[in-house]
Amino acid sequence: MVYQDFKPCPLCGASGQIPYANCTDFMVSKESFYLLRCPDCCVVYTLDPPQEEDMKPYDKLNLKLKLGDSPNGLTGKLYYHIRNLMLKRKEKIVKTQTYRTTGSLLNYGAKTGFFSHLMEKHGWKVTSIEKYHEERQFSMEMFQHRMIDVPMLYSLQPGTFDVITMWHVFEHTHHPDELLNKFYELLRPGGVLIMACPNINSTDAIHYGPFWAAYDVPRHRWHFNPSSLTTLAQNHGFTLMHHERMPFDSFYISVLSERNLRHRMAFLRGMIEGLYSWFVSLSNRGKSSSIVYAFRKR
Ligand SMILES: [Zn+2]
Repeated sequence: MVYQDFKPCPLCGASGQIPYANCTDFMVSKESFYLLRCPDCCVVYTLDPPQEEDMKPYDKLNLKLKLGDSPNGLTGKLYYHIRNLMLKRKEKIVKTQTYRTTGSLLNYGAKTGFFSHLMEKHGWKVTSIEKYHEERQFSMEMFQHRMIDVPMLYSLQPGTFDVITMWHVFEHTHHPDELLNKFYELLRPGGVLIMACPNINSTDAIHYGPFWAAYDVPRHRWHFNPSSLTTLAQNHGFTLMHHERMPFDSFYISVLSERNLRHRMAFLRGMIEGLYSWFVSLSNRGKSSSIVYAFRKR
């Protein structure tokens, strides 16, 4: 079914958008949003999401802010253990992909600043951008790490960063074209753009359909698979160097998806489905729940 009435693709301008799914904002508003797929660049996007200035009612409370840095109970301890493992893995990805042990890093969408803090501890010169005041405040109090607001992105010196990181941020962005152009300008020649995004081709995404928690409408405006994200990055002067799976996301997303379905024993069922998805991704990275991509500036 092709709906010629839909507006052209916001990224490539192709017409003939294809209905992809009808998803619900299970976490906050309970409102429904359609997803469309572009027949040309294959990106899936949320149809008519709220404007940037109208997003406040849809924002989730940041769990990390609530928890601070003192783990309580089994879930809290597990969360902190996994978070620390992932932080180390992210650090390793940055070092491996840049072939550097230190350098200049822009962390876009730095949230509460744990990754920025870790990289600073390892000698990197880190600039952090975060749009939420509460997160910036948290990072200042917790790590004495100063973060800047999004508009400051446009005052940064072009050609000065060895690497730019975005951990589960790009799918939220309102202006992906503009952001990628800016990143291209800010990176040094040969600089690396590293981003992690949910993968709509993953085993768990296919299994849960519109209940898949990583659609997370309307906060997620873009829904990528490896092919659509790589095409977009290529169109902005980047070459894909490497991609790898994020191993724990399938468990977390599957448990949330089971809750969206209101299944009994959601945690257990989610862990089983998460395990299956994780297992499949061992031999096929393209089926991983989330993927980390490293793009090099051409
Ligand atoms: Zn398109």
